[in-house]
Order: sequence, then C-alpha cells, then structure tokens
Amino acid sequence: MRYVSTRGGMDPVTFRDAVILGQAPDGGLLLPEVLPDVSKELEGWRQLSFEDLAFEVIRLFADDIDDAVLKKILKEAFATFAVEDTIPLVQFDGLNVLELFHGPTLAFKDVALQVLGGLFEHILEGSLGRLNVLGATSGDTGSAAIAGVRGRPNIDIFVLFPDGRTSLMQELQMTTVLDDNVHCLGIEGTFDDCQELMKSIFGDLAFKEKYSLGAVNSVNWARVVTQIVYYVYAALKFNVPVSFSVPTGNFGNVFAGYLAKSMGVPIDRLVLATNENDILARFFETGRYTRGVVQHTLSPSMDIQVASNFERFLYLYFGRDSERLIEFLGTFSEQGSAEVDYVKSEDSFFIATSVGEEETRGTIKTTYASYDYILDPHSAVGVAAASRFDLGSPVISLATAHPAKFPDAVNEAIGKDVATHSRLTNLISQPTRKTLLPADEEAVKNYLATNAR
Ligand SMILES: *Cc1c(COP(=O)(O)O)cnc(C)c1O
Repeated sequence: MRYVSTRGGMDPVTFRDAVILGQAPDGGLLLPEVLPDVSKELEGWRQLSFEDLAFEVIRLFADDIDDAVLKKILKEAFATFAVEDTIPLVQFDGLNVLELFHGPTLAFKDVALQVLGGLFEHILEGSLGRLNVLGATSGDTGSAAIAGVRGRPNIDIFVLFPDGRTSLMQELQMTTVLDDNVHCLGIEGTFDDCQELMKSIFGDLAFKEKYSLGAVNSVNWARVVTQIVYYVYAALKFNVPVSFSVPTGNFGNVFAGYLAKSMGVPIDRLVLATNENDILARFFETGRYTRGVVQHTLSPSMDIQVASNFERFLYLYFGRDSERLIEFLGTFSEQGSAEVDYVKSEDSFFIATSVGEEETRGTIKTTYASYDYILDPHSAVGVAAASRFDLGSPVISLATAHPAKFPDAVNEAIGKDVATHSRLTNLISQPTRKTLLPADEEAVKNYLATNAR
C-alpha cells in the first residue's frame, strides 16, 4: 500500500516510510492512496481477540512489515495492558462503554503508541539506525509516548513539559521512567512555550536532519490505523449497525471511526463530542471552521482549538483535491476562518455537539448514581453527548482515560474520594529524574546535541 500527502507535493511512499516521516515534507499529512474494503471479511473476524483482529486490520495497511514481525509487535504492545481483553466493552442497561484506558499510562493513547513504539524499533533496526523523538506535552501525550519507547535500543525520547504546570501525577508518570533513553525536560514556561520550542526546532531542517529528529504526535499514520481496530472490534460485538460517541479535540480518534465506516464496517453514526472548545462541533453544524480562544476545562486533553488531524478529513471531503485543501488552509491561516459547502442533514454521518462543564460534572455524578460506574471527565463528555440524541442504533461511548488520572474533577462531581488506581499512587514513592531548562531554543538544542545518540 502506498501513502500520499494531503497536499499533493510528495511521491507516494511505503508504510515504513510513512511511519518514520510522521508528517509529509510538504507539510501535509499521509493517507493511503486507496482504503481497503473489509466488508466481506467481517463475519470471519467476529470471534477474534482484539490482538488478532489488530493483526488482520493493520496488515492491510502495513504490507511491507513481515506478518510474523507484526504479530510480535502487537503481542508485546497489548501485553502491557492490565486486562485480558485489552479494551473491554462494559455494558449497562442503556449505556455501552468501551474502556480504552487499561494501558501503561491509563489513557487511550497507549493503544496506538504501544504499537508505534514497536514499529519504530523494527523499522529502525532494518534501516536508518537511530531516531531521536522530540515531543511537547501538556501532560498526557508525553507519558504515553514515553511508555511506548522506553528501553528501546534505537530510540531516544525528549519530552518538553511546562515544569510545575502539569498535575503531579502527570509529571510522575513521565519522570519516574528512569530508562537511559528517556529525557524529561521540565521547561520554565507554559505549554505554549514548549510547543513553540518544538516547532522552531523542527523548523531548523539542518538540525533536524543532523540529529535524526522524529515526532510521535497524533498525526502519525500508525496511530490512526491502530485506532481503526477498536471501531471494528466493538462494532462486531453487535449484530446490528452501531453508533459511537467519541470525545475528541484533535479529531484523531474520531477520524479513525470515519475510516472504519469508509472501509465497510457497519457504523450508523459518529457522535463527535467536544468540550467547550467547540471548533469541530461548530464545523459540523455550519460548515464553517473558525478558530476560537482555548478554554481550560475539566477535560484538558481536549482543550484544543485547531485539530491537527482534521486536514485528513478535509482532503477526503474535497475528493482528494489537494488544491482545494491548500486554498482552505490558506484562508483559515490568514483569516482564522474558512468555509466549505457542508450541509448538515437528518442523516448526516457526523453528529457534533459541545458539552459544558456543568453537564460534564452532572454526567459523572448521575452515571455513578445509576450504575456505580466512574467516568473520567473526557469520557463523560462522550456519554453526555450521546445522551442528547435518539439514534435508533446502539451507541458505544469511548472511554479515553481512567478516572484516577483526573481525581479532582471526578471526586468533586461524585462527592467522595473514589478515583484512585494503585499504579498511580505507587508512583509517589518512586525515584524520579528530570532536567530543568529555560524556555530558550538554544538551551534545548544544546541539550539535544549533547544527549542525542
Ligand atoms: C488525547 C485525548 C483525547 C482526544 O483525542 P483526539 O485524538 O483528539 O480524538 C480524549 N481523551 C483523552 C483522555 C486524551 O488523552
């Protein structure tokens, strides 16, 4: 299978190259030239475990990875999950929750980042040698990325986080990882400073090349492809088409659901659930994509205004017309707003809605009262959004984080201390390592130059 850039400025590349590139050299995102149609395979896949299904789905996209190698990568990736069935579907009367948070850092990003780590290692062994991964995090992505690559011989990871501005648990999930290849860089500044630093370092192409810098952010194709698997897996647990409610910010998770549908998986609707940062919800209401000011909410991993994966959707929406896409992006970057002729209708596949803070708290509280079940604030946004619509198909809400990752919001909503996880409380007594650096490009580059292998 060959991969092209959404912006049309790159010769097609293989899966291996797509994974290492992350982003296309022309600034676009990578997508397969054609999507496979799996509708005839589905019946045969019904009884498969998540791991075996992942093999069947991912091999369609990763046709230059040896089958035995892919099996091994998936086995190792999902062995890090705390439960036998990797991503259990929990069912109550009227509520279906797909728990995606049983990986090492208790968030859904582990599902894909565990696989990405294994793919990186395998691909590097065969060719390039080494990769120095550079990332910026406001908390959650950093620890999941670290968990994906810790201890791997061909990779070093450097994570910039705003020192003192993440939660204590988020910091400990990074700094208690003592493997030699893990570098936690506490930046004396904000998350925006960290992102700016990362962008300008990646922008220095000579530096990037000299130190083989790579990224693990949410636009890496291997992450999207792994996320497709759980839509297939959950849909096959039902005998009728299902809908999903997906808490989203970067349009990553929900885009994977759109691809699953496009590949023939029986999905009725996708409820796109945002918090108060509702740029995506507004787009699917009006066809207008307009930047707003980032609001800080109880679901911080969705406090995003410009959704990095949305470009892939737009490219497909424009019938793979890169010129139209580039024009749209140009207008958006100049004017902070751009429009397509999207018309919302009764049977639109995407149903988008934004959930406020009170309703998020209320949903945590009532779900606990009704089912004795604890939602984290991100998952609660999805459950609240789903409850607004009467779809006529079973709805599966994706649970993207364990409640213990956001104990303050959860405990406050429920009124007692219920959100704990031994894996997190154990971190408090463990040794840590981090390096403090000023929010200064030269300082970070010096650190990289000295420590990159
Ligand atoms: C990253 C994240 C999300 C949003 O993921 P998208 O890729 O934007 O859909 C939702 N919930 C949690 C807990 C996350 O960490």
